[in-house]
Amino acid sequence: MKSIFARRPGAAPFGELPRGQRTAKPSLHFPSRISPGNVVVLRSVNAMDIQYSLIRSRKRKKTLSLQIGSRSEITVQAPYHMPAAEIQRFVKEKQAWIEKSLRRQALQQASHSKKACETGEQFYYLGEACPLEAFFDPLEYPGVVFRDHRFFLNCPADRKLRKYFLTAWYRKQARRHLTQRVDFYSRLLGLTPGGIRITSAEKRWGSCSEKNHLSFAFRLIMAPPQMVDYVVVHEMMHIREKNHSSKFWSLVLEVIPDYQTRRLWLREHQQHFDL
Ligand SMILES: [Zn+2]
Repeated sequence: MKSIFARRPGAAPFGELPRGQRTAKPSLHFPSRISPGNVVVLRSVNAMDIQYSLIRSRKRKKTLSLQIGSRSEITVQAPYHMPAAEIQRFVKEKQAWIEKSLRRQALQQASHSKKACETGEQFYYLGEACPLEAFFDPLEYPGVVFRDHRFFLNCPADRKLRKYFLTAWYRKQARRHLTQRVDFYSRLLGLTPGGIRITSAEKRWGSCSEKNHLSFAFRLIMAPPQMVDYVVVHEMMHIREKNHSSKFWSLVLEVIPDYQTRRLWLREHQQHFDL
């Protein structure tokens, strides 16, 4: 991800030097690029510290720019003579945006479909990206324990085996959560499904058979609860209407007024919920 901000600062800092310095020419030639590894930390009282590389450029006249690289590294480019305080102020102004971008980037990186299932990787559970801690203790039961928004996976360092345990855990949570939601909407809507099945489907979130058996992909449990609910209501409405007619959608609309937003959200985020 590459994001750029540029702005023209209010006052040009140079040209306002004290009189004595105004005519003084620098006696030393500094490279126009001060080391890109010139890392600056912007201390923040109640949020994260922002660390960035500062590049001062002679070519750059008035604008400051801020970029976030693919590895979350932040680079600020500034005019050569701009006072540090002004640069800090600029970064501080962008702090909320930077944090939001870094969070979004972390979420995107959490959603790589080819997961190695290694410590530090993020896995979704009900819309939340939670880090994995993988280890192997042969004296303990293998498998997943989910605690304090973290996955603890005890398993030999084998990708397939780790995936197997994670999938088993997801399926179990999917069954529990979806059974609960289907029960809730059964009572609310007075609809009785023939049963619930959890599948490994990759292309669809759910389905409803002729005999009203509901199927849900276990991956659905990675999505936020309101998205899960939309899929539940969608499939349950097929008990009444076995098609996607306007009558069907109006039935969904009665229960989930913002179903279109949720439907679109799922479509856009589908690739993130993979193992
Ligand atoms: Zn449908």
